[in-house]
Amino acid sequence: MATATKPIAKAEKKPTNGRTPEKKWVYLFSELNEAETTVGGMWDDVKALLGGKGANLAEMTRIGVPVPPGFTVTTEACNAYLAAGQVFPEGMWEQVLSALKVVEEKTGKKFGDPENPLLVSVRSGAKFSMPGMMDTVLNLGTTDTVAEGMVKLTGDERFVYDAYRRLVQMFGSVVMGIEDEAFEDYLTEVKAKKGVSSDTELTADDWKQVTAEFKRIYKEHVGEEFPQDPFKQLSLAIEAVFKSWNGKRAVDYRNATGISHNLGTAVNVQTMVFGNMGENSGTGVAFTRNPATGERKLFGDYLMNAQGEDVVAGIRTPLPISMLEQENPEIYAQFNDIAQKLERHYREMQDVEFTIERGKLWMLQTRDGKRTARAAVRIAVELAREGLITQQEAVLRVSTDQVLQLLHPQFDADAKAEAKKAGRLIATGVNASPGAAVGVVAFDADLAEKWGKAGQSVIMVRPETKPDDVHGMLASKGILTSRGGATSHAAVVARQFGVPCVCGAEALHIDVRARRMKVGDLIIKEGDTISIDGGAGEVYVGEIPRIEPDFSRETYLRELLSWADKYRRLDVYANADYPQDARRAREYGAVGIGLCRTEHMFFQEERLPIVQAMILAEPNSEEEKAQLEKLQAFQSDDFYGIFKAMDGLPVIVRLLDPPLHEFLPKHEDLALRAAGLRILGDRPNELERIESLMAAVKNFEEFNPMLGLRGCRLGIMRPELTKMQVRALFEAVCKLTTEGVECHPEIMIAVTSTANEVKFLRELIYEVAKEVMGEYGCTVSFKVGTMIELPRAAITADEMAQYSEFFSFGTNDLTQTVYGISRDDAEGKFLLDYVERGILPENPFQVLDQDAVGYLVELAVMKGRRVRRNLEVGICGEHGGEPKSIEFFHKAGLDYVSCSPFRVPVARLAAAHAALREAGIGAKE
Ligand code: PEP
Ligand code: MG
Repeated sequence: MATATKPIAKAEKKPTNGRTPEKKWVYLFSELNEAETTVGGMWDDVKALLGGKGANLAEMTRIGVPVPPGFTVTTEACNAYLAAGQVFPEGMWEQVLSALKVVEEKTGKKFGDPENPLLVSVRSGAKFSMPGMMDTVLNLGTTDTVAEGMVKLTGDERFVYDAYRRLVQMFGSVVMGIEDEAFEDYLTEVKAKKGVSSDTELTADDWKQVTAEFKRIYKEHVGEEFPQDPFKQLSLAIEAVFKSWNGKRAVDYRNATGISHNLGTAVNVQTMVFGNMGENSGTGVAFTRNPATGERKLFGDYLMNAQGEDVVAGIRTPLPISMLEQENPEIYAQFNDIAQKLERHYREMQDVEFTIERGKLWMLQTRDGKRTARAAVRIAVELAREGLITQQEAVLRVSTDQVLQLLHPQFDADAKAEAKKAGRLIATGVNASPGAAVGVVAFDADLAEKWGKAGQSVIMVRPETKPDDVHGMLASKGILTSRGGATSHAAVVARQFGVPCVCGAEALHIDVRARRMKVGDLIIKEGDTISIDGGAGEVYVGEIPRIEPDFSRETYLRELLSWADKYRRLDVYANADYPQDARRAREYGAVGIGLCRTEHMFFQEERLPIVQAMILAEPNSEEEKAQLEKLQAFQSDDFYGIFKAMDGLPVIVRLLDPPLHEFLPKHEDLALRAAGLRILGDRPNELERIESLMAAVKNFEEFNPMLGLRGCRLGIMRPELTKMQVRALFEAVCKLTTEGVECHPEIMIAVTSTANEVKFLRELIYEVAKEVMGEYGCTVSFKVGTMIELPRAAITADEMAQYSEFFSFGTNDLTQTVYGISRDDAEGKFLLDYVERGILPENPFQVLDQDAVGYLVELAVMKGRRVRRNLEVGICGEHGGEPKSIEFFHKAGLDYVSCSPFRVPVARLAAAHAALREAGIGAKE
């Protein structure tokens, strides 16, 4: 590896002539005030300078939490090092040495001194937490002579050589890039020879021998002896952390999470404390609240007589933290106190690492804990209830993605019970990340990624995962491991990305080489289908059907959204076509229906033949009238159901939109049937009927139906149709009104391009409405408005507004017509390719194109309101449920967004986020 051959920049101290003060590259944990002064006091900037971990260590030190002394080399030093072609910036090394001196004074130990050696850890820490992405080296400062001295000092040879071999191994793999297997294989061999399965069973002599062999492996790979100069160890380790910022796994992680590439990482150098100094020592990781459910209770794992990485890597299976309470109540109580203090201080659930060294508790790290979507919601709500944060902050702390995840599908309970009965539950493990996933088994990350990208549902199965596996985990629908606990790498990453995960399913014997796993007698091969329940920690063979989540049971989410409703300015409506949709929309918190697509009612099985007969009848004929009457009865019933469900809330009903041929059979299908009938020759009447139908269908064919006889054009050309719909609507609302139901109908005209279209239909609507209300002797106030879904309509919005009480942006058609890209064809053909190649930043049918489509929206709002000050303006295209687009609509001053009922919760939260951000309120005040 490059580091071995590259001369280290021996930072010679250059005279500064006392002119410019030397730049500060290194801050002791006790120098937080200085760091704050340097950056101007903002915590975010302190984090940018010292990294999240470094800033937190310094802050923990400041609030009196027991933190082993140490210092942080800044992110600026990392950036300067990388920019200068991997040379330490001037003065940095000297500052490291002086900081080390202070640490020596504080601990009473000396770096490299066999009499009383100081050992340190070197860890990365960027501004944002990147779990497992960067490199860590422990026990730095151990050399042959230091090891001998430590044996004398501790009288514990076993501990000393275990520590030394760890350093050689970590330094070799992390700093020098030696494959970890080289060390691990040897260790496995030693254990096999001794007939033991666990590291703890190895003796002092064994570790001594392992250390010697590790040093030999090191020399074989690096071409030099393992460094016996502790300062050389330190400078190489710092360099390795700097370089790992640009390592593949760090870059992949940043790409996946959108973290900027120019932040750099800080390096934390900290006094080592040892959890493996006997049975009164130990180590662990814990969350101040349960990261899967959010429950307010310490959650985590610990191991006595072990070092931190044993827990994180899932090599030994740890014990739940609740056991510590029984085994060592005093330490537990102290730990619990500190955990609460940290949570109160940071006003957020914390993820802490701790070590007990000979009965003394040390906190090594704290950071905001990663959590599932479910936990995120509960924690935010409870923190607000406890008064640690405001309700506004709680709303901002839950992301729209988390709400989406929370409304993830679950397994059908009956189907799951049946699968259990049938013996298909093959293993259980830790319920690491909730959600139900079904997919084919892939035993490595590359294959999981390949299959995932090809559109397959994949469950990635590994004994345990490592940072190198993240790309495969991201491409998978679920993750399953046979080793490790709730804080293992697999669990942490899966929770972060909302991928269902079961880990530590120990019954699975995974043979990655043979590409299969065995459970009892059952063999599951790569490519076989399994189902995992990340909430229950269960693994099933085969597929289990899934069902939609139950919003009514999400009590914390409902409370959070009720707070969101207080802050949002945009109302959230739903697109709903049937009474049951309307009821669901209301349950999800919609305060109106923004789009009822009446044509959907026409497609129902018993109605389609009537619709077809109506279309094929001569306009204004008796036949047309008869069919319309039948349809009107159906429509009236539908409207009755919807308006009843939406009692007291507005319902926007759109008049018929699609071209009529959509309701007719396809010409080629008819041609096939006709050909068959001709060959058989036994049903001349039927043949005649099909042939005349073919002729009629031909008549309705258009080259560009989406730009053809549809929307208002249809309503104008076949006015009887419009009249039928309007009559059906008013009959329903008049009936309901007399029954005491409050109806607020709004009638919407689609695909308009000129104000005269709106004017024409408006008059027709008023005529019928008056007629029906007269018949029923009741008055219902209503609005007539238009969709804005063609560029011309947007540009002439001032004219449109003269005849419209409201506008509703049909951003699906507006996107289609602004881009001149067919919404029905493009996504399957080239659009996604465009996005992949960066020609388009995003799919404009999902995320609103603010530059052009958004421009027209703003223009139309401005022109429309200029003519009609109280013009109601909303949006009912697919963008109405997309958070980024919602923020845009908020800023554009719309009154509401309308989206599918399932997206209503997300839209409520997104609308609140937009309003709070606009008011300058952040998630952490
Ligand atoms: C639209 O065009 O955005 C719209 C809501 O109408 P539809 O999708 O039915 O064309
Ligand atoms: Mg449309």
